[in-house]
Amino acid sequence: MTDYKPPKNLLSGRTILITGASDGIGRVAAVTYAQHGAQVLLLGRDRKKLEAVNDEITASTETSPLIIPLDLAKLHAQSEETLSESLRDSIEQLDGILHNASLLGSKVPLAHYPSNEWETVMHVNVTAAFLLTKALMPSLDRSTDASVIFTSSGVGRKGRAYWGAYAVSKFATEGIMEVLADEVSDTNIRVNSLNPGGTRTTMRARAYPAEDPMTLPTPQDHMDLYLYLMGPDSSGVNGERFDAPSWAGP
Ligand code: NDP
Repeated sequence: MTDYKPPKNLLSGRTILITGASDGIGRVAAVTYAQHGAQVLLLGRDRKKLEAVNDEITASTETSPLIIPLDLAKLHAQSEETLSESLRDSIEQLDGILHNASLLGSKVPLAHYPSNEWETVMHVNVTAAFLLTKALMPSLDRSTDASVIFTSSGVGRKGRAYWGAYAVSKFATEGIMEVLADEVSDTNIRVNSLNPGGTRTTMRARAYPAEDPMTLPTPQDHMDLYLYLMGPDSSGVNGERFDAPSWAGP
């Protein structure tokens, strides 16, 4: 719990892209951003699940989400150009990206890690986030106050046995965040990373099958930090690493 009290209209007038908006933390962040006035762009690989999020948002807010069905495993340099062109047609400017989608992959020793899976996890968790960010930089440039959030993990800050490509991908995520933050330090764009910490989602249940999910915080419990970093209250905060469990407010 923090003392941070985001106003209802915190994100009004802002357009925000959320990757992995179909489930887990991304879904809750998308709904929460829309409830705080943002027009949200819902990116995910499962159209039906995205439509359900879209329905929830249109039923509970005045905003009009846009669905972007896209499997990030299939996002390559060529499709990046098509994506940025089609987004440029439908949105004037982009005020935020929440890079949230990730694959967990196998939890096995590196010596036994399946090579194909290594490539897929690195592609979805790292390369796709790079390609998307690159494609959308012109749209971020058009915003007067843009925020890019990269989702990290505890194992992206201290490696741990058997976390394989997922852990390595999160180190790379921190790397992209630091490089980009330094590059945009004198601009309208800020870039930070956020580790949600253990949270009650499908991914967590897959990573820790023996754990009782009811002992974990829900995605909803972290939303003050997700709002703070996406909204104007974090203007000027750039290149920093945030941890949801220990965040005590601005
Ligand atoms: P979930 O597995 O519950 O949700 C992941 C989301 O990413 C889903 O919407 C999923 O889509 C989407 N996604 C996965 N692969 C692709 C792809 N190839 N293309 C497009 N979308 C894709 O994960 P969480 O909500 O738990 O995690 C969210 C973020 O938080 C991740 O970056 C994760 O690494 C990080 N994190 C989570 C922790 C936790 O305890 N939950 C702890 C630390 C970090 P679909 O619905 O189709 O599966």
